[in-house]
Amino acid sequence: MKNSKTLKQKTITLFDFTEGHSVQISRVIAEIKGRPDGPNLVFIGGMHGNEPTGVLALKHVMRHVERLQPMLRGNVYALAGNLTALERGERFIENDLNRVWHADNVERARKRDYQPAEIINEVEEQIELWGKIDDLMQACSGPFIFVDLHTTSVKSVPFITMSDTIMNRKFARKVPVPTVLGIEEYLSEPLLSYVNELGCVSLAFEGGQHSETESVQNHEALIWLALAYSGAMKRIEIPNFRKHFEHLRKRALNNDSVYEIRSRQGIDPGQLFQMMPGFVNFQKIKRDEPLARLDGKTLHAKEKGMIFMPLYQAKGSDGFFTIRKIKRFWLTVSYVFRRLKLYRILRYLPGVRPYMKSDETMVVDKATAKWYSTEILHLMGYRRKKRQGDLTLFMRRKFDFKGPRKRKP
Ligand SMILES: [Zn+2]
Repeated sequence: MKNSKTLKQKTITLFDFTEGHSVQISRVIAEIKGRPDGPNLVFIGGMHGNEPTGVLALKHVMRHVERLQPMLRGNVYALAGNLTALERGERFIENDLNRVWHADNVERARKRDYQPAEIINEVEEQIELWGKIDDLMQACSGPFIFVDLHTTSVKSVPFITMSDTIMNRKFARKVPVPTVLGIEEYLSEPLLSYVNELGCVSLAFEGGQHSETESVQNHEALIWLALAYSGAMKRIEIPNFRKHFEHLRKRALNNDSVYEIRSRQGIDPGQLFQMMPGFVNFQKIKRDEPLARLDGKTLHAKEKGMIFMPLYQAKGSDGFFTIRKIKRFWLTVSYVFRRLKLYRILRYLPGVRPYMKSDETMVVDKATAKWYSTEILHLMGYRRKKRQGDLTLFMRRKFDFKGPRKRKP
């Protein structure tokens, strides 16, 4: 545990609005060790400082688990994200902590390769948070499962976002809430994409609207379910397992479908964006329906689907996304195709060719590719990496069905 000794032991005070008292929060909210042959379940709360409900829920559930003293398989860790931002109740201080997880940045954080002038709050937070995760990865042999707890500015049913790997699907499909695939193609460098590429199961759970009691309850239910689904605790050891499951199922309005992102409406600096009033997350939209106004021009839906993450706060560069349900049939087809490694035939699709002769990376030429090429690449587990003119680069995720045999973070 080489880094632990030098980690700053920062502690902040948060007001627990559900219990009506203050709580002390430090980077490690809880660390519960069990038998070494199990998974390592890592929860992160408060990656964004204006989203305290995940942290409060972790505090509540971990307190309960510690009291129960279960026969834990593996280890459970509850970590806090952006401590300074949590203390101030702001999303971040100088830089979004959930957009800095490029491999080069992580390497710099590991080596503490920064000039004093470069050390802004989020660099410090990243060094400390990664220091802890890195220590765990070096010390623990079992598989890693990351669950990042968030909330949204808009009123929303709880939902999951994740990269489309079979490992992630296997975990997420047990949770009775909708799952949205593909958001990571629009977010730059969130922590979950980084650890996913190391071969960990990783998903973000959006528990509802910021600072609502309901969101704390949703996060608590999810944490209990994750303790069971990861294999860290047996279902019968979880107090009221069924109740937590039913709670989430009802809050998600019985919707456990899988969706894909179809479009993103960006907002450039200086542009005036206004969402049409009254949209909630996952609201159905019709083709040509007016959705928002951008610099005085009305934006209409290009196809029928659903609205996702409409922006009703002042700050932000994502106006809204549109999503569409993926039929179970296609999920099964893509599972079977990936099992059979049929992605090897992608190079025969019109307008699609392997990059440097490897099936791991594909170049799609919009000018000649068919409209369905992108969808097929997504279903085969490829992620859009880069766009340049008509060309788009797609990369296959390295760890689809299982993580590496020996982890080298
Ligand atoms: Zn967030």
